[in-house]
Amino acid sequence: MLELKYFPVDPVLREKAKKVEDSEFGKKLDETLNDMIKLMVEKKGLGLAANQAGFTKRFFVLDMKALKERQVGHLKFDKDLLDEGRYLKIVNPEFIEKQGEMVSEEGCLSIPGVYKKVKRYSFVILKGYTPYKEEFIIEAEGIVAKALQHEFDHLQGTLFIDYLSPLQKRMFLPKYLKNLSKIVGRKVTFLDVSRFESLKKK
Ligand SMILES: [Zn+2]
Repeated sequence: MLELKYFPVDPVLREKAKKVEDSEFGKKLDETLNDMIKLMVEKKGLGLAANQAGFTKRFFVLDMKALKERQVGHLKFDKDLLDEGRYLKIVNPEFIEKQGEMVSEEGCLSIPGVYKKVKRYSFVILKGYTPYKEEFIIEAEGIVAKALQHEFDHLQGTLFIDYLSPLQKRMFLPKYLKNLSKIVGRKVTFLDVSRFESLKKK
């Protein structure tokens, strides 16, 4: 069973994930993504990126059924791609187009209990691959566009709270660190935050 990684105690959340090589596609990769879906479902998430499960490879999963229930606007992708009619696995994602602007609230399984407004592109086209290296395209506005950008960011070592001002961060951190201490079973302090922040790519 995979374990969920948390800000600021797991440095893997700051690593830039590497491209999945041709030889790495196939059944084993598919099984890894199935394990990630299990973890996402267990934690009641809408999406989960490799880094959040301790991998430094470029892939993520989305719960498209849950996202579509909250989707407003354009969404186009091949429904046959969904596992159990619900889950989408995306390997080696690349944005082909990003347009417009929207501001909406975001949260992250790796930063439990924190919800903040973040600015994102309002329309994206993303190219990706299935675990068996079939290329596909997904076009989206709304919450799906947001989810694609949020998960892609994880693969870059970027978290949604990186878009907040230092003041906004200072305001949620004390309560958050107290809460996280309970989750990870040790005292998490501002020192953990500075260590984590020092890993940020310039
Ligand atoms: Zn996240």
